[in-house]
Amino acid sequence: MFDSLSDRLGGVFDKLRGRGALTEADVRAAMREVRIALLEADVALPVVREFVDKATEKAVGSDVLRSITPGQMVVKIVSDTLTETLGADTSELIIDVTPPAVIMMVGLQGSGKTTTTAKLAKRLKERERKKVLMASLDVNRPAAQEQLAVLGTQVDVATLPIVAGQSPVEIARRAMQAAKLQGFDVLMLDTAGRLHVDQALMDEMKAVADVANPAEILLVVDSLTGQDAVNVASSFTQQVPLTGVVLTRMDGDARGGAALSMRAVTGQPIKFAGTGEKLDAIEPFHPARVAQRILG
Ligand code: GDP
Repeated sequence: MFDSLSDRLGGVFDKLRGRGALTEADVRAAMREVRIALLEADVALPVVREFVDKATEKAVGSDVLRSITPGQMVVKIVSDTLTETLGADTSELIIDVTPPAVIMMVGLQGSGKTTTTAKLAKRLKERERKKVLMASLDVNRPAAQEQLAVLGTQVDVATLPIVAGQSPVEIARRAMQAAKLQGFDVLMLDTAGRLHVDQALMDEMKAVADVANPAEILLVVDSLTGQDAVNVASSFTQQVPLTGVVLTRMDGDARGGAALSMRAVTGQPIKFAGTGEKLDAIEPFHPARVAQRILG
């Protein structure tokens, strides 16, 4: 994962460690290389700027430069900043509310939203022993509701019976009612995707959120789309109160730009990473572990 970023930073770190004393100019030169490494990994520009400013400010402090191992200290500052940028701690799903805890899944078409809905439902059922109901609110794409029903059968999780002709808000209402009446702990709402962010989509998200009062609104983004993923995240953040991000296709993500940008752009943690097509290919996102992997 993130091999070229790893190699690049490794090179910068080797140079720093190999030196005895460091001047402020040395630190600034190293930070310029860190900046290039992050930009090449496709990290969003404002995130790169903030990263480099923060790390430089800490690293040019006299305590660091006058210490016995300034190189080591600068390396540690960059590593800590990396972990912070990725989100510091692992974040659990918020399901500890009066049932049903509603988890609303949002994102563009093709991001992996429906698959992720089924993956999370399976996890909640198996690991947390929760009784989960899934409902697809996607009335635009033919067969979207059937797709979720098929996945439901595969992971052995209930799906809301399909009633033709209902609007997303009507389906959400019906799902809430069914979840309450039938004693489900968690209700997962798989909302409609679009090819691009548009106002109708955002209005639909807001209307559904008003009805369902979700404990979680998780944005699903494809990590392979890099800067596009960042732009999508920033559009959604402005319009719906996201509580977390799921990054899919981390199994194929060689660069890491989306992962490194997401926390800063949305202000919310990456909660899970999708790591394959199989329905158990999802993992809680551990910022420190990912940082460690990048740093080798
Ligand atoms: P949606 O349109 O956002 O609901 O996307 P889907 O859930 O239908 O997923 C689109 C495709 O991406 C499917 O073929 C999934 O199997 C695949 N997919 C989803 N998540 C992952 C992931 O984490 N890794 C890989 N390799 N494929 C994924």
